[in-house]
Amino acid sequence: MTSARHPPRKRFGQNFLVDRHFIDRIIAAVDPAPEDNVVEIGPGLGALTRPLLDRVKRLTVIEIDRDLAARLSAEFTSDRLRVHNVDALTFDFATLGSALRVIGNLPYNISSPMLFHLAQFEPNLRDMTVMLQREVVQRMAAAPATADYGRLSVMLQTRFRIERLFIVPPGAFRPTPLVDSAIARLTPLGRARLQIDDEALFARVVTAAFGQRRKTLRNALKLLATEAELEREGIAPGARGETLPVSDFVRLANALARTVRQSR
Ligand code: SAM
Repeated sequence: MTSARHPPRKRFGQNFLVDRHFIDRIIAAVDPAPEDNVVEIGPGLGALTRPLLDRVKRLTVIEIDRDLAARLSAEFTSDRLRVHNVDALTFDFATLGSALRVIGNLPYNISSPMLFHLAQFEPNLRDMTVMLQREVVQRMAAAPATADYGRLSVMLQTRFRIERLFIVPPGAFRPTPLVDSAIARLTPLGRARLQIDDEALFARVVTAAFGQRRKTLRNALKLLATEAELEREGIAPGARGETLPVSDFVRLANALARTVRQSR
């Protein structure tokens, strides 16, 4: 099966991996065992699917492109490969069971919503090994007070340990993308995870704090917290959201959640 027989569809972010060296490195990074519950998002022409099937007994794939899904269904029997021809952004990953090992060369145009969608299924996940735009991986793994630290870093780091594994250059794909890609591994923190009392409120605090860069928390969080509330949690009202560690965001949002409950 070659990419020449399938015109790549831009709207589905189709850049197919063709470099054996990088395919082998990705599979080695996942290192799947035969019984692992592996799910691949966006298998495309099967560059990762085939080597995965050499290692695992059964594999699940989620592919939005009807033609590509049909090709894979025709190539493998359903007891080895389960093909879901659906949009991964709305797919209920909980239906696939537990200890899921997610792997995917994700379309760049939907990378952030895809990560947020997957994060909801954290209790069902063992790990995720994903290829994204290099700059997105930098943002995911960024530390406070660095230029890349933002909403994506905080929201993902509350749930996952994030490792940057290696860079994949444009030449490894056909058609060649304009930017470098990188592989990241996300591992659920499990019991090490900080308890968030009100997820929706937490998300609002983080979004507001990064809403306008260089704004002080006093101003950015004006609608959510008073200066006194910030100070009570040991957070300087004159500090900027970019400098606040993940644990401070959690502590502040939990304190605000208690105030909201008490005032009801
Ligand atoms: N895994 C293949 C590879 O490495 O060569 C293909 C990677 S290509 C960057 C992204 C794949 O994701 C394409 O096959 C595309 O059709 C599929 N895709 C795009 N959007 C999707 C979505 N919302 N849900 C599921 N698959 C999607």
